[in-house]
Amino acid sequence: MGMFDTIALDPAIRCPECGALATSHQTKEFECQMSYYRIGSVVATSCYLGIVRDRFWCGACQDADRQSEHPLYLVIWHSVLAAVELDAGEAERKLRETDRLDLVGWLADSQRETVRWRGKFRGLMSSLKTWQWHLREKANPEPEDEKLRLWSRLLSLPDEILNAPDPLDAIIKSHSEESPEDDL
Ligand SMILES: [Zn+2]
Repeated sequence: MGMFDTIALDPAIRCPECGALATSHQTKEFECQMSYYRIGSVVATSCYLGIVRDRFWCGACQDADRQSEHPLYLVIWHSVLAAVELDAGEAERKLRETDRLDLVGWLADSQRETVRWRGKFRGLMSSLKTWQWHLREKANPEPEDEKLRLWSRLLSLPDEILNAPDPLDAIIKSHSEESPEDDL
């Protein structure tokens, strides 16, 4: 279906046809860069303040070969995705009532996410570096380099990673977690 962007729906949106809950929405209304957005994200769109009409898509209806054509309204407030609504009136209300206090809340969420991702990145880099040292040590068990000797003594990976058939894959898996964003 080509490129798109994904919006996390929180709260989830209930399909008006079958009642299934959609927790994410694929849209072609932004720049289609496989980006991941949530409420409070600055979105890449020419709309600065207003409502973009999109189309709701239900996987359950699609699987059952059922028609499910409903407009979906993306509320954009000063380039920030403020809401995603099935109801046009509710979208208009959200556009009217969104204010700077909402912005402060989104900013706090965004900073928490930054801290979380920084921690994930550091953890992954640490494991990869340790794996790199492990490989170097295997290739050269008696290194001349004092720094390398020290690192080799200090750092070690858990046995389940070292003994795995594919240790690099085990490292990647150990740093993955259940989150839709992480699958992208
Ligand atoms: Zn449905």
